[in-house]
Amino acid sequence: MGTFQIDFGDAAQPERIIGIDLGTTNSLAAFMDLTGPEIIAAPDGARIVPSVVALLEDGSLIAGNAAKARLAQHPLETLYSTKRFMDRAASPLKIGNRELTPPEAGARILLELKNNAEAFFGEPITKAVVTVPAYFNDAQRQATKDAGRIAGLDILRLVNEPTAAALAYGLDKRNSGTIAVYDFGGGTFDISILKIQDGIFEVLATNGDTHLGGDDIDSLLIQIALEDIATEWGAPISDDSAAVETLRQAVIKAKEQLSFALFTNIDLEYNGKRYQREITRDLLERLIAPLIERTLAPCRLCLADAKLTYENIDEVVLVGGSTRIPMVRKAVEALFRSKPHTELNPDEVVALGAAIQAGILSGEVKDTLLLDVTPLSLGLETMGGVVTKLIHRNSTIPASETEHFTTAVDGQTNVLIHVLQGERELVKDCRSLARFELTGIEPVPAGLARIEVKFLIDANGILNVSAKDTRTGKEQSVEVKPSYGLTDEQVEAMILESLTNAENDIRERQVREARVESDRILGALESAKQSDAWFELPEEDKAAIQTAHNELLLAYHGDDHRLIQAHMDKLDKASLKLAENMMNSAVRGALKGTKI
Ligand code: ADP
Ligand code: MG
Repeated sequence: MGTFQIDFGDAAQPERIIGIDLGTTNSLAAFMDLTGPEIIAAPDGARIVPSVVALLEDGSLIAGNAAKARLAQHPLETLYSTKRFMDRAASPLKIGNRELTPPEAGARILLELKNNAEAFFGEPITKAVVTVPAYFNDAQRQATKDAGRIAGLDILRLVNEPTAAALAYGLDKRNSGTIAVYDFGGGTFDISILKIQDGIFEVLATNGDTHLGGDDIDSLLIQIALEDIATEWGAPISDDSAAVETLRQAVIKAKEQLSFALFTNIDLEYNGKRYQREITRDLLERLIAPLIERTLAPCRLCLADAKLTYENIDEVVLVGGSTRIPMVRKAVEALFRSKPHTELNPDEVVALGAAIQAGILSGEVKDTLLLDVTPLSLGLETMGGVVTKLIHRNSTIPASETEHFTTAVDGQTNVLIHVLQGERELVKDCRSLARFELTGIEPVPAGLARIEVKFLIDANGILNVSAKDTRTGKEQSVEVKPSYGLTDEQVEAMILESLTNAENDIRERQVREARVESDRILGALESAKQSDAWFELPEEDKAAIQTAHNELLLAYHGDDHRLIQAHMDKLDKASLKLAENMMNSAVRGALKGTKI
């Protein structure tokens, strides 16, 4: 694969493509300037657009700082952190007397960024590259694209956030290397390990915690302040959501100052009352040490997933506003034994990388190839209710895998292709993404048909599955637009479940596969018994076959796949002569291959 380039023709000026970091807490847009990527500031100079949407009394929606400013006074008419729910089939969120779907909420934020960019350039902006977490599944990526459509932005490409961050640091210029991207934002923590080889970017593994971020630090401080206030003011304010919101802004301010100062004040004025409390960095560090510790376990898991240790990590990149905290930097440095990159603003670095990717698409930036990773394995249902995985979790995308399958029944003219997502071995434990039928297969004996199944994930993470009967050329395909979605927590849970159930799952799978294989042998034996060859067989051979047959049946209903296998082998041996007599290669030779 070469570089991505779009041919805009000769005369036409390439249309501007902006890069957008659509974050859980904050969003930003950037563009490719002559000297490199630059943040697009709002007309008032603000670089960050808080990911907050508010409904005004006149029924209009606003987003960004103005919306965030209304949070305290109008908590029920404001939405924040809606990215958590970003999904094709997510239920709408209540905002005042209205409802907004997460893509609609995301769209309002994108619109804010689009408007800022249009004011900045003085021209219409309709194209963007948008970043998403590496663990976003198909439904979440589609929903993000929907948000773009609603906002009037054509999202040309979705880029994984860690990949964008590494790009912003120019790490694609390395000949080779392994990079850890530690992203500690407002509400989520993500760790990703990327590999660079000859200018090619590859995500090796990702991990994280979808409910761990700066918000948790804020909550700890709010808790302390609430207790103080209840004593000082003689009455708690914890039930007054406007008061709590105002307090939240005050503690966030104090927290952010403590990244640069050794002490500061939490300062709250509310309804004519005032609360002030000095807070030191030392106290903050004691409070948040357990939260920081919680980011380290996913880092270790991620390293293990990539089959690496800290010694293999050449560079560490810090992303997310919460990595401004000195203690976070120290913890990361201690874990990876290497000084992390902090030269760029951690809350801007993803948007800057998105702008570079936008530049690659428009042809302004050359010679960079980006690869991203799929968060969950993809496969299809095969006989016995088991899943055969075609594309494995953490595979780089775009990815394509082709495998051949065959039919289970004589004369079978259609097969059901059941597409599944997840890490478990059995269909019942995976997530069903789509089903479709390939019809018009040439009716041939079981095991003789050749069905070619191809899984293709494009650079945007959208899956196309096609199945083809290689004899007739009949083909069917589906593009996966999942009818219901998965939350981030579910993705994590699915991965975790697969680990805790791995042993049982594999045992169950082996038993089921052994039974499918036994069915084949027993079926073949039944038909052989109708043949002349059977009647010509010496009685002792018949008896040996019968014994082996009965033993196999017994093992079949047990749960030891080795025993089933052993008795299949025994029956196979016992019926050697019978098979030879039949001179029918189809009985033995056919039926090889996995059946759908
Ligand atoms: P996200 O990617 O989750 O949308 P950001 O990367 O913008 O969010 O991170 C937002 C978080 O970073 C907030 O919790 C914010 O309080 C925190 N943050 C920003 N600046 C600082 C700072 N100087 N010190 C500590 N935390 C900070
Ligand atoms: Mg972020």
